[in-house]
Amino acid sequence: MTHLLKSDSEIHLVIENEKKRQREQLVMIASENYTSSAVLEATGSILTNKYSEGYPGKRYYAGCENVDISESLAIERAKSLFNAESANVQAHSGSQANMAAFFSMCQTGDTIMGMSLDHGGHLTHGSKVNFSGKLYKFVPFGVNRETEALDFNNLYEIAEKNKPKLIIAGFTAYPLKVDFEKFKHIADSVGALLLADMAHISGLVAGGAHPSPVAHADIVTSTTHKTLRGPRGALALMKKNFEKKFNSAVFPNMQGGPMQHSIAAKAVAFKEAMSEDFKNYSFQIVKNSKILAKSLSENGLRIVAGGTDTHMLLVDTKAIGLNGSDAESALLSSGIVVNKNSIPFDDEPPMITSGIRIGTAALTSRNMLEKDMEIVSEFILESLRNHDNSKILSSIKEKVASFSAKFIVPGLD
Ligand SMILES: *Cc1c(COP(=O)(O)O)cnc(C)c1O
Repeated sequence: MTHLLKSDSEIHLVIENEKKRQREQLVMIASENYTSSAVLEATGSILTNKYSEGYPGKRYYAGCENVDISESLAIERAKSLFNAESANVQAHSGSQANMAAFFSMCQTGDTIMGMSLDHGGHLTHGSKVNFSGKLYKFVPFGVNRETEALDFNNLYEIAEKNKPKLIIAGFTAYPLKVDFEKFKHIADSVGALLLADMAHISGLVAGGAHPSPVAHADIVTSTTHKTLRGPRGALALMKKNFEKKFNSAVFPNMQGGPMQHSIAAKAVAFKEAMSEDFKNYSFQIVKNSKILAKSLSENGLRIVAGGTDTHMLLVDTKAIGLNGSDAESALLSSGIVVNKNSIPFDDEPPMITSGIRIGTAALTSRNMLEKDMEIVSEFILESLRNHDNSKILSSIKEKVASFSAKFIVPGLD
């Protein structure tokens, strides 16, 4: 980054400090990950200079002969990786992929059924402060109070009563395996379309560690930067009959020129995700979160829904008398980055919460294994037990940094 150092030392410094942070801290935000150097190289390439409104072979600008190839590769690889009929790789983010999905499946004012935010749904699944809640009539569903898992009988009743045009199967904070086939049965039985939003789990789906929604849903959306380890952005997979509608919902309806640097980086990530290494990676992520859940629950914390089948666990910190916000800041003081998160039927407001969400995808990208998770679990427990002792927390922070230094940082090493 010698050019940046010369031209803008302030931004250079920010990036250098962020490198240090990503090296020293334990990144356990469930939606974050480390991309490979190859993905970073494509993201930082001159493809960012190119305007290419339209789609490969049908552009509004001249000079697209190179980006036509990279975008076509991204599309073909996405289809082959996920065994999908059609793919769109232009959405700038997961939220925009969802917006395009709604635009291609619904009219404004239609009824859509999705997981409520406080049970683990996403803002784009009907929050009042989001376009989704403003343009559509959302009917929420939640998890069962006893099991903290999806309750398909309850879902069926809600669907039967409200006759939604669309049902969304997708979650930001749900740790268990999702049975997309059951969602499809419910959608079919009430004449609804099905959108699977696999933003969090797409890397697990690509590697085979989680069942795929692709055969069941009319449209599948995903971010590319969470477990999939690609650049910041999104992709959508769909049945052939939605291809035209979805493409025009993205452009010209919602976005302008696509980000070709990001699309090329998505192509790189999809290729990486086809490898044997990535398959092993996806299974290792789940092994790591299972061992973490086991170790935390054996030491007094309560794991929501009784465990995890994914990269994510929700932890009820009230079990040891701490709210989510205090748990988050204690962990941050010792160099462990997680986020506070509402747990189902939470009594605390969203800025406080009764729990934290922990993810293992980023640490698994640093090649951490089960034995390392046991050490991480010790760091977490020690920090939470000593949440009001800043001296102990800063000594844990030093231990965390020297532990962390033993592992590679993809993109930096
Ligand atoms: C992260 C996420 C999104 C949105 O992705 P952005 O790229 O942040 O817009 C959408 N849906 C779900 C389920 C998510 O977890």
